[in-house]
Amino acid sequence: MSSGVDKTAEFTVRIDAARDDLIALTQDLIRIPTLNPPGNNYLEICEYLARRMTKRGFEVEMIRAYGTPGDSDKYPRWNVVARREGAHPGECVHFNSHIDVVEVGQGWTFDPFGAELSDGKIYGRGSCDMKGGLATSIIAVEAFLDTWPDYSGAIEISGTADEETGGFGGVAYLAEKGFFTPERVQHVIIPEPLHKDRVCLGHRGVWWAEIETHGRIAHGSMPFLGDCAVRHMGAVMEEMEATLFPALAERRSELPIIPEGAKNSTLNINSIHGGEPVQEEGYTGLPAPCVPDSCTMIIDRRFLPEENIDDVRQEMHDLLGKVQGGREKFTYDIRDMHEVLPSMTAQDAPVVTTVSRAIEQVLGKSPEYVVSPGTYDQKHIDRIGRMKNCIAYGPGILDLAHQPDEYIAVQDMIDSAKIMGLALAELLTNQGSKS
Ligand SMILES: [Zn+2]
Repeated sequence: MSSGVDKTAEFTVRIDAARDDLIALTQDLIRIPTLNPPGNNYLEICEYLARRMTKRGFEVEMIRAYGTPGDSDKYPRWNVVARREGAHPGECVHFNSHIDVVEVGQGWTFDPFGAELSDGKIYGRGSCDMKGGLATSIIAVEAFLDTWPDYSGAIEISGTADEETGGFGGVAYLAEKGFFTPERVQHVIIPEPLHKDRVCLGHRGVWWAEIETHGRIAHGSMPFLGDCAVRHMGAVMEEMEATLFPALAERRSELPIIPEGAKNSTLNINSIHGGEPVQEEGYTGLPAPCVPDSCTMIIDRRFLPEENIDDVRQEMHDLLGKVQGGREKFTYDIRDMHEVLPSMTAQDAPVVTTVSRAIEQVLGKSPEYVVSPGTYDQKHIDRIGRMKNCIAYGPGILDLAHQPDEYIAVQDMIDSAKIMGLALAELLTNQGSKS
């Protein structure tokens, strides 16, 4: 018992002492600009991670997701998976981070790939989402190995491609290749920036569809001879405003979805297009006078874990049917584009209770349990890998993700590294939080 306490103290000191190393590692990762799209520098960052993990006795595999969306010889979809076996048989804990970052955008006051340290924060694209989390998990694992070299089971760290564009060339591909089966991996922690005191159990569902209204082309000076598809789409929007948006605003989850607004079921109208295509830049002529014979709308419907995707679809079909009933010549098509079912890990799953105890031990308070408004790679680990014992847990402020002047606070990473390491101690040794 006392040696467990000593070990915990020893581990905590190690993390504090690794502060400069943690900062340098985070900076190195940010300075490799892995913009996605198109998927830049995946090989460079995977090789960097491979070198670091090899030094610590990990077996490293580099896996290119050939033929997945976006994969080409110019933009290969590289992933890295590192595994280190313990001294005794036991369970495997896997830390999965995506290596890609989104476009820079406008409004920066820091160099987006400079990784400048200022006032205890490291600034840069991907600092918060999620190279800070990746660096934190590596530092946590390294300090764990130094403190408990005799651990049981195995530790895995992966850096994976394309999370920001759906994860098909990343976690989905690895899951299809058997990297996330319950036989190989028993606990998964995804260090997405949900905040150091929160455990994220899962996410809402997604349904994307394209609605097209049809019309008939005619001369714009005699619109009565044609049939305007844009006006038909206007009727669809009116019906959405009158009935669907109010209905969604009433539908509220019992689950701790964040932020507050995402506890409701939501619909985003992603885009609308009707009539003549937008001409190339440089075209100086006028449009031709035509009545639009087609109008398309792409909808992005996010639904609650309490809802059923068939009901979500049916609701939209019913709405279109209602518009049709009140409108002569209204015809439409609706095409499914993409769907993700909600994913939820049980609050009493071992990885949840273990990380929760570590949060209490390090921060002196109970964790907050949350559910994410949007999806992340947990969906593939759940659906393809059939692995239910998975959470998102990591340092950083979610709202900063994808924003200008994105940053990660060094102290948040330090605290999270302690929490990750103590969770490892509980799962892979007979010490840690429980002792
Ligand atoms: Zn992310």
